[in-house]
Amino acid sequence: MSTSSTPVNLDAVIIGAGFSGMYQLLSLRDKLGLSARVLEAAGGVGGTWYWNRYPGARCDSESHSYSYYFSKELLQEWNWTERYPQQPEIMRYLNHVADRFDLRRDIQLDTRVKSAHYEAQHNRWHVTTEAGEVFHCTYLITAVGCLSSANVPKIDGLNDYAGDWYHTGQWPHEGVDFSGKRVGVVGTGSTGIQAIPVIAAQSKHLTVFQRTANYSIPARNAPLTDEFKQYAKSHTDDIRHIMNSNTNAHPFYITDRSVFDVSNEERKQIMETAWKKGGLEFRAAFRDTLIDEKANKIVADFIREKISEIVKNPATAKLLGDIDHPFAAKRPPVDSQYFETYNLDHVDLVNIRETPIEKITATGIKTKNHDYPLDIIVFATGFDAMTGSLLKIDIQGRNGLALKEAWYAGPRNYLGLQVPGFPNMFTVTGPGSPSVLCNMPPAIEHHVDWITHCIKDMREKGIQRIEAQEKAADDWVLEVNHAANSTLLPSATHSWYLGANVPGKPRVFMPYAGGFAKYQKIVSDATSNGYVGFTLS
Ligand code: NAP
Repeated sequence: MSTSSTPVNLDAVIIGAGFSGMYQLLSLRDKLGLSARVLEAAGGVGGTWYWNRYPGARCDSESHSYSYYFSKELLQEWNWTERYPQQPEIMRYLNHVADRFDLRRDIQLDTRVKSAHYEAQHNRWHVTTEAGEVFHCTYLITAVGCLSSANVPKIDGLNDYAGDWYHTGQWPHEGVDFSGKRVGVVGTGSTGIQAIPVIAAQSKHLTVFQRTANYSIPARNAPLTDEFKQYAKSHTDDIRHIMNSNTNAHPFYITDRSVFDVSNEERKQIMETAWKKGGLEFRAAFRDTLIDEKANKIVADFIREKISEIVKNPATAKLLGDIDHPFAAKRPPVDSQYFETYNLDHVDLVNIRETPIEKITATGIKTKNHDYPLDIIVFATGFDAMTGSLLKIDIQGRNGLALKEAWYAGPRNYLGLQVPGFPNMFTVTGPGSPSVLCNMPPAIEHHVDWITHCIKDMREKGIQRIEAQEKAADDWVLEVNHAANSTLLPSATHSWYLGANVPGKPRVFMPYAGGFAKYQKIVSDATSNGYVGFTLS
C-alpha cells in the first residue's frame, strides 16, 4: 500500500473488478504489456454479482451466452449447470477467471476510489482512494457497472424501524434468515420478481408492496442437458456470431415477422410456443413488439391473460395485470413462479399506487389505510443506474471540469466511450452505449476490445491523448435520443432507463437503443476512418 506522498505510477487504472474490469486488466496487461491495476471497493471480484446476492438472484441471460468469449480454452473448460446461472455459480465463474488468468495480483480489493483528476501539465490522471493512496496513470478506465449504486428510497421513519431492513443490491454475505418472520418486499422489478417467490417459501408471511405492476415471462429454468452443453461447446463461433450480429447480443435473432403478418390463431400459437419456451426470447417472437403500439398491445394482452389464468384471486390478478406501460418498454423480468406465489395463503399484495406508503414506523410500514407489522423489510427498489456509480466519484477533467457539472443535464458523451474534456478516460458500457439493453458480456467485450485497440494504436503512433470532440458528443446525444424515440421505450416514463426512478435525476434516455450490431458498425466506421469525432494529439 502506498501513502499519499508516494504515488504509484501506472499506465492504467481500472475502476471495478466485475466482468469489465477483469477483462480490461487482462487485455492491457497481457496483450499490450502495460502496467495496470484494478481498484475495487468490494472484498472480492464479481462486480454487481458480488453485491446482488439476494434470495433468487439469477441471471436473465442464458448461461452459455453469459460468458466471456475471448478465450476458446475458457469456453471449453467451464461447465454451466443451469439454463440461467444463479449468483453463486456466476461468482464461481468470475473467481475462476481471476485465478485462471492470474488477475488477482493486479486487483486491489477493499479500495474505494475517491477522486480522479486529470493533470494536463503531465497528461496524467491523479487518482486517490478513500484510504489516502495515490496513483498516477495515463489511462483511466471506469468499469463501475451500470447497476451498482443501490437506490434506497427516502421514506420517513426508516431510522426508527426496529426490525431489520435490506436493499437487495447490498445483501449481507451471511444471508438473511426469514423463517418464522413477517416480511415486506417493496418493489416489483426484475429483482423483486426473482426474490419474492424465494422469500415467500422461507417466511411466515409475506406482504408485497407494489407501486407499478409489471409484465414477467416464465424463465423455464432447468438443468442443462448433456446435449445442450455439447451443442454450446461445439458451436462457440456460431453463437458468438449470432450475439454480435443482432439487436440485444443474446444468442437468438428477433424474427422478421410482424404481429400483423399472421392470423389470430397463428399469432396465438406463436405466443404460446414462446411462452412455453420462456425467457427474454419471448420478446423476439415478432419484430414490431417494441416499435408499434398496436402490436405491443396484442402481446401485452396475451401476458395479461396469462396472469389472470395463473392468479386465482381475481382482485389480486387484476392488480397484477393493471400494467401502465407497453410490454418491454421497461426491462422485462423473467421469473420462476412469480405470479403463482400470489396463490399462497400467506402472501398478500398491497397497491401502494392507490394508497402510498406514508411512513415506516418502529413496527412496520404504514399506508394511508393500514399498518403492516413487519419483522423484515426488503427494498428491491433498484439502482441509480448507469451514472450513479460514476458520479459518486469526484472525477475532474481538463481545467477542473467536474463530471457532475458536465453531466448536469444528463450524460453527454461520444459513442458511450469518452466524454469531451476528459482526455484518456474511457467508460466501459457507460450511458450512450447499448449496454443494459444487451446481454452484458458481449457488450463489455466489445468496449474492452475497442479501448485496448485504441490504446495500442495510440502507443504505436506516439499519440499521447485521445478525447471526444464536443460536436461529436452533441451529435451522439441526438442519435441516442433519436434511437430511443424510434421505439416505445421512452413511453415507460418512470423507468430507470430514463433516470426517472431516482428523485431529482435528469430525465434522459441513457442507453443506446439502435441495436448492438448497428452500434458496433458505427464505432468501427468512426475508428477505421481515423477516429472520427475524437481529437488525437
Ligand atoms: P427496478 O427495475 O428499478 O425496479 C424497482 C422496483 O421498486 C419497481 O417496482 C419500483 O416501482 C419500486 N420502487 C422504487 N422506488 C420505490 C419507492 N420509493 N416506493 C415504492 N416502490 C418503489 O430495479 P430492479 O428490479 O433491481 O432491476 C433493475 C435492473 O437490474 C433490471 O431492470 C435488470 O436490468 C437488472 N437485473 C437483472 C437481473 C438478472 O439478470 N438476473 C436481476 C435483477 C435485476 P416503480 O416501477 O413504480 O418505480
